[in-house]
Amino acid sequence: MSDYTLTIDGQAVAGEKTFGVVNPATEEIWAECPDATREQLDAAVAAANAAFPAWSRTPLEERRALLNAMADRVQEHTAELAGILVREQGKSLANAMFEATGTAMWFRAIAAIDLPTEVIQEDDDIRVELHHKPIGVVGAITPWNFPLLLSIWKVAPALVTGNTMVLKPSPYTPLAVLKFGEIVRDIVPAGVLNVVAGGDELGRWMTEHDDIHKISFTGSGPTGKKIMASASGSLKRITLELGGNDPAILRADTNVDEVIDPIFDMAFQNSGQVCGAIKRLYVHDDIYDEVCEKLAAKAQTRTVGDGLAEGTDYGPVQNKMQYDIVCDLAKSVKEEGGRFLCGGEPTEGKGYFFPLTIVADLTDGSRLVDEEPFGPILPIIRFTDDDDVIRRANDTSFGLGGSVWSGDAEKATEMASQLETGSAWVNQHFNLSPFLPFGGVKESGMGVENGPWGLAEFTTKQVLNIKKAS
Ligand code: NAD
Repeated sequence: MSDYTLTIDGQAVAGEKTFGVVNPATEEIWAECPDATREQLDAAVAAANAAFPAWSRTPLEERRALLNAMADRVQEHTAELAGILVREQGKSLANAMFEATGTAMWFRAIAAIDLPTEVIQEDDDIRVELHHKPIGVVGAITPWNFPLLLSIWKVAPALVTGNTMVLKPSPYTPLAVLKFGEIVRDIVPAGVLNVVAGGDELGRWMTEHDDIHKISFTGSGPTGKKIMASASGSLKRITLELGGNDPAILRADTNVDEVIDPIFDMAFQNSGQVCGAIKRLYVHDDIYDEVCEKLAAKAQTRTVGDGLAEGTDYGPVQNKMQYDIVCDLAKSVKEEGGRFLCGGEPTEGKGYFFPLTIVADLTDGSRLVDEEPFGPILPIIRFTDDDDVIRRANDTSFGLGGSVWSGDAEKATEMASQLETGSAWVNQHFNLSPFLPFGGVKESGMGVENGPWGLAEFTTKQVLNIKKAS
């Protein structure tokens, strides 16, 4: 039995089977999750299709009002949602509260964005309008690092543009999203938002489903490629938000004391389990030793522990598979000539705990620099030449984000604009907003989320070409 239910056609639906959800801080199963069957997915998709005609014709102001009402419900339940997030994801309670309140804020912001019909030609004879039409049923598939927020990045724009949805969270962190389905169930018209949970196979059934018309996916690159292949069967629209290996470049004229805090935060936020975390820190030779020393000193002031414990800044790695990847990359450090400035060894005892780890003396071509660790381990790489460091930063199949830091903002802007990334920041990193498009280039994804551009991803364009009566 599970305390949580699927949401299908506006109803609470129990799973015929359940699977255990592990708390990464204890390695113990702390709750059971309903495991949706193929038939339950079919029922969710059928409900979403049945709801689509009426929902797509519902006036925009009513759809916006629903998003705001959902925000209110999330706001009323932030403590409950945050408590679930800590237990299933591992993050600290403060960060879980941040995710839950951010979710409510995101709903409200997306509800306010316009995606108006454009008049692209108008003369005595012809009026041509460009309309953004909803696609139909959107299948949303989400990862385990920000289970709630990254789901709402899909729910809010899909629903406000008139689509209906079947949402599937990660099997590692399904419960906050199921709870979200429960707390908005009575205010969403039946079938408009269906929430199912299950393993990777459930995601595969969704991408193959003939009656789902678009897949919006956030997760790893390898899964994104499988989704693209599978979606081609019915030429589904896809948006893919995939992994990154973001470089941050610190030029010689950077004010080190000013940048240590933001660099540290953007490298280790959520224990490094952030798609756009700083994962390769390139530092000019002139300030290399100072930056290494100050970042390592800062790491000593931070506490890694159970997200529920008082004083915890950073939680464990979320699951065993990711923990093994982090441990394996850490093991490669010494073999490849790296030097630990702090951390480096997995913490003994229960829980997938790995200390904040900073590594000096590695360079491009080593595993820790080239691969996405998605954990609390950061390589600091030395450089001497601005052009060369841009070439090295771009010498990767990833293209999510990147940043350049300098006392000379003009020079930094010129360098940042050369990064082959979806977002390029100057003197900051991973500064996101509901109003700014976010997405990857190269193998970090396809399409964007947020802003009117993100809303447009949930629509098809129709040219309405009207010959005026003579
Ligand atoms: P993952 O690809 O393993 O899983 C993501 C989701 O896909 C889960 O819900 C999973 O059940 C489902 N899935 C797995 N196999 C599937 C298949 N064959 N067909 C359909 N669905 C399938 O990713 P993860 O480990 O949960 O997340 C970590 C990754 O996500 C990292 O690479 C990270 O960088 C990336 N990420 C990217 C962004 C972004 O916005 N670009 C944001 C967060 C995380």
